[in-house]
Parts: sequence; C-alpha cells; structure tokens
Amino acid sequence: MKIYENFSLKTYHTFGIEVNARYFIEITSMADLHQFLNHPFYKGLPKLILGEGSNVLFSQHFEGVVIKLSLKGINIVKEDADNVWMKAAAGEIWHDFVLHCIARDFAGVENLSLIPGTVGAAPMQNIGAYGVELADSFDSLTALRLSDHKICIFDHNDCQFGYRESIFKKSYKDQFIILSVMFKLNKKPTFRVEYGAIQQTLAEMDIKELKIQHVSQAVIHIRQQKLPDPKKIGNAGSFFKNPILSPIDFKNIFATNPEMPYFLDQSGYYKVPAAWFIEKCGWKGHRSGDTGVHAHHALVLVNYGNSSGSDIKNLAEKIQESVKIKFSIELIPEVNIF
Ligand code: FAD
Ligand code: NAP
Repeated sequence: MKIYENFSLKTYHTFGIEVNARYFIEITSMADLHQFLNHPFYKGLPKLILGEGSNVLFSQHFEGVVIKLSLKGINIVKEDADNVWMKAAAGEIWHDFVLHCIARDFAGVENLSLIPGTVGAAPMQNIGAYGVELADSFDSLTALRLSDHKICIFDHNDCQFGYRESIFKKSYKDQFIILSVMFKLNKKPTFRVEYGAIQQTLAEMDIKELKIQHVSQAVIHIRQQKLPDPKKIGNAGSFFKNPILSPIDFKNIFATNPEMPYFLDQSGYYKVPAAWFIEKCGWKGHRSGDTGVHAHHALVLVNYGNSSGSDIKNLAEKIQESVKIKFSIELIPEVNIF
C-alpha cells in the first residue's frame, strides 16, 4: 500500500490540468481500503474518491487524500428466465462493463456505450445518454460510510435518482465510497433507438436483424464523430446540465426565440439544451489562451494545453452570468468542482 505525497493528478483526470494532491493512494482491495481508512495519520484529512476523473474539475490543489478506487470484478449474482443480476466492482471501467454485458447478450446498458469513467462513479450522477440512464437497469449498490466505515446497501429508492442526479451528489455528498453496483439486465432486449442519430446510423449499417451489439456500435460511432477525445483536448464532457424549464419560463423565452430546441417531459416541463443558451450568448468556439468552449459542442469547456482549473472555473462562471442576464436561466454545473 503506497501513499504518495504532493502527487500530480494531471494524468488522472480528463481535463489534464496540472494540479497536486497532498496525498494520493490507489486502492485495489478491500483489505487495503480498511487498513488505509484506519490509519491514524490520514483519518482526519479530507478525502476525495477518484474514478477515471472524467467528471471533475480541480480548481486548486487538493489538500487532503485522493483515493483512486481500482477495485475490480464482475460477476453474475442470480438469474431467472427474463433477467440477470450482475454485480460490478467500483473500479471497473464503465465501457468495459458495458461490453462485458453485450458479449453475453444482456441488455439494458448498450445505449450507455463509451461513456468514460468507472462503474462506481456511474450512480453519482445517474449517467445517461441517448435516451437511457443508469437508473433504468440499476438494482442496488454497496457503499462504505466514511464516518464509521459501515457498509450500507442502497436500493433504487434510496439513491433518489434524478436527471444527472442522485443522493450522492446532494445530501450524502462526499459521505460514501461506492464499492460495487448491482444491475438488473434483460435477457430479452427492449431497443431504445428513437433518440437522435441512432436510427439513421443503424440504417446506414444496413442491419438485417437488430441486436444490442448494433445499438452499441451505432452509439460508439456517433460518439466518436461528435465528442472531443479528452486524450487530444482536455475536457470533462458536458460542463452544465440541461436546464428543465417550467411551462411559464419556457413560454416566456420561446415567445421571442421560436427556434429554441426543446423536449417536453412527462411532467409537462421542458428540457432545453444548455448548449443552445451558451451558443446564443456567443460562447461557442470562444478561446482565451488555452481555455475555451469547444467549436462544435458549446456544452464542452476545454483545456487546449496549459489552462488552470481556475481558468476553466472562471470561464464557466462568465458563461453562467451571461445566460442568467440574457435568459434569467441558472445553468448548474454537471462537473464536480473541487
Ligand atoms: P470521477 O470523475 O473520477 O468522479 C466523479 C465524481 O464521483 C467525483 O465527485 C468523485 O469524488 C465521485 N466518485 C467517483 N467514484 C466514486 C466512488 N466509487 N464512490 C463515491 N464517489 C465516487 N456523463 C454522462 O452521464 N453521460 C455521457 O454521455 C457522458 N459523456 C461524457 C463524454 C466525455 C468525453 C467525458 C469526458 C465525460 C462524459 N460524461 C458523461 C461524464 C463522465 O463520464 C461520467 O460522469 C462518469 O460517470 C464519471 O466517472 P469517473 O470514474 O471518471 O468519475
Ligand atoms: P444531442 O444529441 O446533440 O442533443 C442535445 C441535447 O438535447 C442533449 O443533451 C439531449 O439531452 C437532448 N435531446 C436530444 N434528443 C432528445 C430526445 N429525443 N429526447 C430528449 N432529449 C433529447 O446531444 P449530444 O451532446 O450529442 O449528446 C448525445 C447524448 O450523449 C446525450 O444523451 C447526452 O446527454 C450524452 N452526452 C453526455 C455528456 C456528459 O458529459 N454528460 C457528454 C456527451 C454526451 P440529454 O442530455 O438529456 O440526453
């Protein structure tokens, strides 16, 4: 169990910002985790659990311990005629888990192909893409409470999943280490291909009989075309959540902006792409030094090389301010800022 001091996190998060952790440890077993958490020196220090660092912005050095969770393992816990319950350890790479399910014809997560990050971080913001979210195939999770090291089980209701939300981002923020997640997958797939370019991409693939493998391939293809690769340009995906507007707020803006894209949800609220507000305020393609807004994707803030975390944070605040002034809309960051 090696603990590093003044450790550079540059290659441990997808913004690629040069920033240090006062202490850093990579955990690969439960025994090491318990041993570390009981260590008297580190006990009182602030702790940050890190997966692949694809949804974090470090605006300053972290003056505590960064715990990179690399617990591994995927196994089937039970199955019946229709479903299989699959458990994955927190440190498994999310996309590897998705491919593992697809290879066995277990459906439910194929639309979530190629989302960066780990299994353990996935419930944090109820990851979602192409009309599907983690909550749709989630059964339960196991987590360690940092205050007393108690192991707790959270079922679906306990997690309070919402749109890119869970209890772990709200009232239980920074209080638990998610150790593993159990998924309830389907042996008979229900295809969700109505979203965006999936149908068109599948048509181009000229498929005879649709399978979850095809859906995954289509999603991978679209993502590779559209999204900036963090290995080439530092970013953390969508920086802000898409705002959900009440009918009154929506109508007020729509009256003067009839071209505004929107998606009406079941409760009568309107989701408007945050990217549209950002673009309307003139930020798309903006660049100042190495800090910018992606030219093809206004929701993605980027580090072209040597941005600092505070450069990115300042840009995010300026964007929020201008959207607030122009539209009276509060953009909420999706990225976890430390
Ligand atoms: P980290 O960034 O390491 O951590 C994120 C947060 O979770 C931090 O607050 C961290 O402390 C906490 N955390 C991490 N692991 C644990 C744990 N085991 N226990 C407790 N807390 C933990 N997200 C989507 O929802 N949909 C997308 O389509 C999507 N596309 C993306 C595309 C790109 C190019 C990028 C860069 C990001 C994208 N994201 C997307 C965001 C990101 O991939 C997800 O939020 C992912 O789940 C983050 O996983 P991670 O392991 O990198 O988490
Ligand atoms: P897109 O297809 O250009 O659509 C823009 C936005 O409109 C999306 O954010 C999406 O909301 C919404 N949308 C589009 N079609 C919709 C529909 N049929 N019903 C409801 N909402 C719809 O988006 P994109 O940026 O290329 O991303 C594609 C998918 O990948 C999206 O689901 C997006 O969330 C996900 N993604 C997420 C991140 C991240 O970091 N969180 C990064 C890249 C991509 P939703 O976001 O609610 O789907």
